[in-house]
Amino acid sequence: MTFRCPSCRNEVGLDALRSAGACPSCGVQLATDDGIVDFVAAAPVVKSGDERDYYDDVYASYVPADPVKLELATLAPRWHGQ
Ligand SMILES: [Zn+2]
Repeated sequence: MTFRCPSCRNEVGLDALRSAGACPSCGVQLATDDGIVDFVAAAPVVKSGDERDYYDDVYASYVPADPVKLELATLAPRWHGQ
């Protein structure tokens, strides 16, 4: 499996992500210290914050039409394997 660098558009293999967490072609950092790969943050368009601000607003304003009504206690049998 390979990914494409959002900055230079060259392929980035899993080995590069696992070892350096950076694009081997342009060096842009794609993964954080904890190993989370964030292609959106690495994209040039996000450096202005426009895209991240847009999606932050979208997710913050989303209200599901029919929110799930779930009592945590009903999950106990699954958790305990019953
Ligand atoms: Zn790159």
